[in-house]
Amino acid sequence: NRQVILKRYVSGCPTVDDMEVVAGAVSLAVPPGSAAVLVKNLYLSCDPYMRTRMTRRSETSSFVPDYIPGKVLDTCNVSKVVLSGHPDFKPGDLLWGVTGWEEYSLIPNPAFCHRINHHEFPLSYYTGVLGVPGLTAHAGLFEVAKAKKGEYVFVSAAAGAVGQIAGQLAKLTGCYVVGSAGSDQKVSLLKTKFGFDDAFNYKKELDLNAALKRCFPHGIDVYFENVGGAMLDAVLRNMRPRGRIAVCGQISQYNLERPDGVDLFQLVGKHIRMEGFLVSEYAGEYYSRFEEEMARYLKEGKVVCVEDVAEGIEAAPAALVGLFAGRNVGKQVVAVARE
Ligand code: NDP
Repeated sequence: NRQVILKRYVSGCPTVDDMEVVAGAVSLAVPPGSAAVLVKNLYLSCDPYMRTRMTRRSETSSFVPDYIPGKVLDTCNVSKVVLSGHPDFKPGDLLWGVTGWEEYSLIPNPAFCHRINHHEFPLSYYTGVLGVPGLTAHAGLFEVAKAKKGEYVFVSAAAGAVGQIAGQLAKLTGCYVVGSAGSDQKVSLLKTKFGFDDAFNYKKELDLNAALKRCFPHGIDVYFENVGGAMLDAVLRNMRPRGRIAVCGQISQYNLERPDGVDLFQLVGKHIRMEGFLVSEYAGEYYSRFEEEMARYLKEGKVVCVEDVAEGIEAAPAALVGLFAGRNVGKQVVAVARE
């Protein structure tokens, strides 16, 4: 059972040497009398928040446990049941939920996993548009930012797993949508494939404030925040009164020892609501409704998605590290086995 383990706590940018692919000693059996299931992992998800778990943090500043050096990494992956001690799950069932970055995982309580209901799409979609990133985009846009028809919406890291869906959902709602991304290729994807009204390459803009003013002469109503730092600072200056910011993530901060300064005083004068959220809050009924809605959009061609698929478990560390250099175009996933 090959596994990707954390070799040591990370400081600064993660590298492939911070992780190691090893032969793990997991017994490929379900303990007698337990309700556990043994699954074969098919698609591993690469998620930016995994970096935040690679540094030892105080218990209060972290919302998910740190990874432990020498132990396997985990996140929400796609898997297939091989052995089951649980009456509701049988071999062959397809699931998505938390498993290790390994070939096989023992899930003590599969009730926390989601069944895969739509087999007409690539299974990898359950690491992306039909899984955590899609759900995050939906909940952040509608539940947190409460985006409405006719509003001006800005999405950062817009060509990524969450951003591409947030932008398309905002377009479906009748918003004016602009995205930022870190390469011309991604900017072109935003404008052609994903139907954004406008997009810019933040790495080529000398002045982010000016870029936002150019794209939003009337200001921004909703900001779907994925990056933090200088971009957040510039966005705050361009928010309209009573604008809303859904703080989904701040990837530009994850490798820093201390966060960049941002002028939050802007919130006060302009009555801006800035609200953080965690996708886990929407894992129940909300997810079930979301899954059906998104499956419909995909079938109707109203939402499309772009994935970046790396092959084989050995490719997993580099794929994860690539997120922080923007090497992924779309949802980064690792195929470890076919069904
Ligand atoms: P992506 O697929 O968007 O991959 C990360 C992208 O971030 C890279 O491709 C890169 O794109 C961009 N990036 C990397 N470093 C920087 C930087 N220093 N400054 C600006 N952009 C950078 O990842 P996801 O869609 O999975 O995640 C997007 C955000 O959503 C993350 O912040 C993540 O933590 C958050 N998230 C939050 C959840 C929640 O529950 N709140 C759940 C899931 C995700 P580029 O080429 O454009 O620079």
